[in-house]
Amino acid sequence: MDLPFYLDCALVVMLGLCLGSFATAVTYRELNDLSWIMPSAKDHAKEQAVPTYRSACPSCHHTLSFLDLFPVFSWLFLRGRCRYCQAKIGVMYPLIEVLCLCACLALFFVHGLSITSLLMMVSVPFLIALCVVDFKRMILPNLLVAIVGGLGALVIGCDVFFGGVAAMEALLRALSAILYAGFALLMGVSVSFVLKKDALGMGDVKFFAVAGLWLGGAALPAFCILSGLSGIVLGGVWQRITGSQLFPFGPALILSLYILWLFDGSFLTVFM
Ligand SMILES: [Zn+2]
Repeated sequence: MDLPFYLDCALVVMLGLCLGSFATAVTYRELNDLSWIMPSAKDHAKEQAVPTYRSACPSCHHTLSFLDLFPVFSWLFLRGRCRYCQAKIGVMYPLIEVLCLCACLALFFVHGLSITSLLMMVSVPFLIALCVVDFKRMILPNLLVAIVGGLGALVIGCDVFFGGVAAMEALLRALSAILYAGFALLMGVSVSFVLKKDALGMGDVKFFAVAGLWLGGAALPAFCILSGLSGIVLGGVWQRITGSQLFPFGPALILSLYILWLFDGSFLTVFM
């Protein structure tokens, strides 16, 4: 079914805003050690909230209505405060929504609407949550990394079943995960040996494997160089802001994966 371009655009805007809203929920719950898949009774006790699957204000636990949940606009309209208890809502949340929307739109403008581009868009909220959690807590939660990896594996499966990609080629792409993780481990061990401190966390190694699933073996040099460059830039900014020598590497890896999505994993196009 071919829709006019402006209708495709409108669809992606709606999808991007919904995914952005989802990204804020995942980020908030991950930062507060709450489950976001199936909130348990323990989670509700932690939140001191009545069991509900609907979003609630973290401060007064009032269930949020449709008007409170409209991405970005609700925050602007309510001037960054809860409608019920006036508690401040951090500017980080509408920023996450805007970032998610922009990331989805950029993917749409480059790749159009396809199974692959849709699965990339669905990965965006998890990538954003991973970035924020790594910046704030220096960890890449396993579950989020695994979901992005699962979506990458799904792309390979769809390429075989709908795209006519040969099974052997798909297998090689799947095995790239091991190549990437092995390379990351080797680099991590060598750099740690030289610097005499832990240079790369296990979360980063797992994310390398995920990037391998998405990008395939040929993109490994591009991914490493881009990650190194983004690491230097982000690390410099991070040091300026926090004054801390310890820099989370996850956001640099995530940014590189996203840039290579936009440029189809080709190294030359990135620099041309
Ligand atoms: Zn409230």
